[in-house]
Amino acid sequence: MNGGKIIVSLRVTSLAQLQRDIVSAQDCADLIELRMDYFDSDPSTLLGRLPSSEKPYLLTLRPKTQGGHREITEGERSAFWETVRTRGPLDRLIDVEYDYDLDNDGIEIVSYHNFEGVPPDLKSVYHDLLRAAQNRTLKVACLVQRITDAIPVWRLLENAKVDGVDVVPVAMGEAGEWTRILGLAHGVRFTYAALHRKDATAAGQLTARGLIERYRVKDLTKATKVYGVIGDPVLSSLSPIFQNAAFHHTGEDAVFIRLPVTDLDEFLRRMVVKNTREVELNFAGFSVTMPHKRAIIPYLDEVDETARAIGAVNTVKIESDRFTGYNTDARGFIEPLKRRIAELNGVRVAIIGAGGAARACAYALRQENAEVTVFSRDLEKAEMLGAEVRKFSALQREMKGFDLIVNATPIGMAQHDGVIASADELRGLKLVYDLVTSRDETPLICEAGLAGIETISGTEMLLEQGALQFEIWTGREAPRDAMAQALMN
Ligand code: NAP
Repeated sequence: MNGGKIIVSLRVTSLAQLQRDIVSAQDCADLIELRMDYFDSDPSTLLGRLPSSEKPYLLTLRPKTQGGHREITEGERSAFWETVRTRGPLDRLIDVEYDYDLDNDGIEIVSYHNFEGVPPDLKSVYHDLLRAAQNRTLKVACLVQRITDAIPVWRLLENAKVDGVDVVPVAMGEAGEWTRILGLAHGVRFTYAALHRKDATAAGQLTARGLIERYRVKDLTKATKVYGVIGDPVLSSLSPIFQNAAFHHTGEDAVFIRLPVTDLDEFLRRMVVKNTREVELNFAGFSVTMPHKRAIIPYLDEVDETARAIGAVNTVKIESDRFTGYNTDARGFIEPLKRRIAELNGVRVAIIGAGGAARACAYALRQENAEVTVFSRDLEKAEMLGAEVRKFSALQREMKGFDLIVNATPIGMAQHDGVIASADELRGLKLVYDLVTSRDETPLICEAGLAGIETISGTEMLLEQGALQFEIWTGREAPRDAMAQALMN
């Protein structure tokens, strides 16, 4: 245990809602922040009626100018804090914005929020805060667009160490999620969380349950190995669910996070590579997804034979600052298929799409001596796969000539409407394999089901390629059942 605490931040919209939320927050919060700026009437009227709670309250009344929910006049603000002050004895802690001149014993946190980004003069902002804070904990929260924008916010920890104060650096937004998960491991006192995702009080805020159960943030230390999925986008990646379950199940001191990376070069240079990195996060490996699977290759010290043959890397292992690239997509794809069709020699397979995933599938199928045809909008790209090549538009017409089809396009993903083929068109196939990952049935899997055809979902491949990644990183057998169970829950 690192001793850090989780502050569950609640929007205070009505007394009835507060009563419900406070009961739910008891078993996941160490402190409960009451965001009084969500209350439309005079929040002072609530002070005498707050429900009892085993966990201490942290009162916050944040004006819109500081990123709060609504306009709050200076008069309203002073009246509120004066009521808090005179109500004593103080059994509540207070978070007050750095611009507010408040002399109150209960102040725990002095906060600064910037929703435009990280100011270039963050250091001088920090020094102003330091003066205002008088040894209280400083909270510095800035909205970030890119993962590396969070670096200066995070590095305030170094200043705080020298100055002997506590700072809570928060990079808001998806790109700053890592600061919320890894903070406690690096000695940050608090991390903020929502009770339910829909009620988050700041961008990128995770739920308290997610932080505790999925990321085990209170157990992490600086020695914990950090793995993550790098790609763009990664918000809907399912990998953190089953990789963290695998680490938990096997007792590995490791965590798996989402790393939304747009600029691969900058990310590796500033956050990962030994001599140039500006933060020490203890990265031990990555799962690599679109669009970086090929782009990462020049940064690696070694690339294994399969990844080299496919020309794409989906797994990186970092050992003694050496980077080795692997590809688990090929085996992740073929293992579930061989569980259905043990002998693939001579089986006629149509792969639809000619991107990175198609490349891994074609490689794996060729190893098994299957007869592979690739249907692609771009024939030139498909030719690189060493298979028969056809125009994508000919697929429906030629479908009957195959035993199975593999959808290696994003068609059917949430943001890509449509379906490759209808139940009628699919009839006659032995199997349909849709690489699109979804916890629900994809449109293609639904159509195949209607036609009574056996199917394999992208989730099955995802789990297998993830299990193989786990084995590369840890050298031990992956707990496949626990990983699948985590994904189903
Ligand atoms: P990619 O490299 O971007 O390739 C996508 C391919 O699909 C390209 O050939 C592209 O053609 C084609 N395509 C896209 N939209 C199309 C459309 N509307 N009509 C026809 N063709 C279209 O992506 P990828 O990495 O190969 O991934 C492909 C799919 O597999 C994604 O859904 C991904 O999530 C999934 N995947 C799943 C797993 C798993 O473990 N289950 C692993 C890897 C990938 P153009 O080149 O003409 O654009």
